[in-house]
Amino acid sequence: MSAQSQTDTAPDIIVGIDLGTTNSLIGYYSDDGPQLIPNASGELLTPSAVHLSGKSDLTVGAAARHRLVSDPDHTAARFKRFMGTQKVFRLGKTDYRAEELSAMILRSLKADAESHFGHPVTRAVISVPAYFNDLQRKATFAAGKLAGLKVERLINEPTAAALAYGVTSDTEETLLVLDLGGGTFDVSILEVFDGIMEVRSSAGDIMLGGEDFTDAVFHDFKEQIGDAARDLSPEQAAGLRALAEQAKIALGSAASVSPEFVIGETSHELSLTQDRFAELTKPLLDRLRRPIQRALGDAGLLSRDLDRVVLVGGATRMPIVRQTVTRLMKAFPEHGLDPDSVIALGAGVQAGLLSRHAALEDRVMTDVSPFTMGIATSRREADGSISSGHYQPIIERNMVVPISRVDTFSRMDAKSNMVIVEIYQGESPRVAENVRLGEVKLHLGGENSGQDDFDVRFTYDVSGVLEVIATVKKTGRERRLVIEGNAGAMSAAEIDKRLKALSGLKIRPEDQSANKVAIARCKALYENSLGAKRVHVEQAMSDFEAVLRRQVPREIDAAREQLTALLDELERSSLF
Ligand code: AMP
Repeated sequence: MSAQSQTDTAPDIIVGIDLGTTNSLIGYYSDDGPQLIPNASGELLTPSAVHLSGKSDLTVGAAARHRLVSDPDHTAARFKRFMGTQKVFRLGKTDYRAEELSAMILRSLKADAESHFGHPVTRAVISVPAYFNDLQRKATFAAGKLAGLKVERLINEPTAAALAYGVTSDTEETLLVLDLGGGTFDVSILEVFDGIMEVRSSAGDIMLGGEDFTDAVFHDFKEQIGDAARDLSPEQAAGLRALAEQAKIALGSAASVSPEFVIGETSHELSLTQDRFAELTKPLLDRLRRPIQRALGDAGLLSRDLDRVVLVGGATRMPIVRQTVTRLMKAFPEHGLDPDSVIALGAGVQAGLLSRHAALEDRVMTDVSPFTMGIATSRREADGSISSGHYQPIIERNMVVPISRVDTFSRMDAKSNMVIVEIYQGESPRVAENVRLGEVKLHLGGENSGQDDFDVRFTYDVSGVLEVIATVKKTGRERRLVIEGNAGAMSAAEIDKRLKALSGLKIRPEDQSANKVAIARCKALYENSLGAKRVHVEQAMSDFEAVLRRQVPREIDAAREQLTALLDELERSSLF
């Protein structure tokens, strides 16, 4: 351990933690910049696995990960994505929620830091995926509390990665950070000037990651095996997938690989060449483009405005990913920092900013909201019918946080006494395709005009936690969004379903009628626009849906032609 200055070892030091799906790390800000703290085995990476034997014999990290195979009934791993859900993991006779298991990891990291510093550590910054919703963020705060840590701030993972790079910039510059991990792809744009590190925008694809590249190879291997692939046992399938993962990694330094896969008496010689890998993964590589364009568009920048393009995340080790990024950005990307530790280093920088470390005194960081948040509304259409399930954004994505905004609403039915304000996050104009965060019930009281009945205020803080307050105008009565604890938490299946819905339109064009294509185009354009343009698109889409409901083919054809012309024009006018 190197000599530490007084600021490094002050008892109120704040640590930065990357609480990862597979591995977790802990760091802090020192006089020499962000540093990582080794665990009891001298490793920087602590596998996010927990083993519990008897009532209290807890093992965390590499040892626990090995028990996944030898003692699966007492071991848990890969629980991060279930934070904030009701899913429980059974260890022996007891059920644990994901936040409790995360707390066990946090406690172990905290103990490593305490033995490193020689004094108690009680304050932390924890990184979370940008797409984590309110429940998942609150669950992360809860995990910290269970571990005896005061969570001073949550930081979005792509923001942390950007900070780790940004803190090294002395000059004015604009960086684009591409983070392709196991399951998600994140893009963020960071501008550094006069000591200010400003996240200008972030975007991503929550269903694109290194695991999809492995799956593409896995499916190809199954085809190579032929009929025998249909009868694979779960263990054999897991073995073949592991082979696909190894082949994917080996192609980083080999022109081709020819692994052997044995089923019973038969040995299958498999093959994967660079060309075949490029062919198999083309649809995945094509999906890198859209989030990059969205992040640039939201920041009002063109690719030539960027000074550096930086790669983060294990899957950016694939040469084919680097080549694709080089082609898309017309610049060679950098990958100077170790992709495994860059998020923890960035969390360490944020911890240094919060504890006002002397070396960061004149540095300030600003972040943006990674997604749009709003409420469900109904509206009366031109033909007098009422349609519900519309999305009214209140805080739009990529607004600088903290932010507080209020909007005024009226009830649809002037005679009704109560409204339920449903709160959503996401980019679709239809709430059914966004993530539902909760609801607020409001008693409006008495007869009213049905005009400007209530206000809804959204306040989004620097940790990405949302507070919603609805106020009845006439009485001043207030209601806050209550995340309804266990009972109200979404099930893992529901969250999965909603997150999938968020990942954009995955429609095979041949399945679609011209009308569905037009609606899909509206939704895509809505997702990629902001402000007035969004309102325009959403109105055009609603008008078209109203025509569709009337079911008069001639009218539908005319309306579709008009809508298509409008979409052409709006798309042309966008930055790309
Ligand atoms: P992360 O979540 O950032 O650790 O990224 C994990 C993903 O990176 C997994 O899908 C791994 O298969 C992938 N990965 C890690 N190392 C390599 C490598 N050398 N070549 C290709 N993919 C890798």
